[in-house]
Amino acid sequence: MSLFDSRLHNYYLSMWKRGIIDVSKFRTYVKLTTMVEQESCVKLNLRKSQRSCLAQLRCGILPLRIETEMYIVEQREERIGRFCSENSIGDESHFVLDCSFYTELRSEHFEDIISHVKYLQMSNDENFYHVLINFPRKTAEYLVDAIKKRRQVVFGQV
Ligand SMILES: [Zn+2]
Repeated sequence: MSLFDSRLHNYYLSMWKRGIIDVSKFRTYVKLTTMVEQESCVKLNLRKSQRSCLAQLRCGILPLRIETEMYIVEQREERIGRFCSENSIGDESHFVLDCSFYTELRSEHFEDIISHVKYLQMSNDENFYHVLINFPRKTAEYLVDAIKKRRQVVFGQV
């Protein structure tokens, strides 16, 4: 990329970020794009459902409780997840890393990651981005299974 291209790219990137930074839906995506220069998962050969779930999570539009009840006036801290008894905010990080409703799926997909010493030493936020950035395929597989499990419980779908 030439110097001019790179300046232009950075200029539009910063404008774009400033434009969306206040939109809470994009909270995950903004953090992610600042951390990864190249969106490696775009190149991954994923199934359509996996790619879709991953994209929705990254854009903050995966139908988690925090989004589906967005229009009910409540503080973010009051948006407690419904699928567990942990009294945690039902956000992306809780959904992927903590919610006890998905414990089995998590150990199935992330066992070697979450038992690694590096993971245990990082903060919750760092762990979330570590998993998303470095293990996009595993994350996508987990998301598809987790959404399927939740649908089965909520709608009785198989
Ligand atoms: Zn939960």
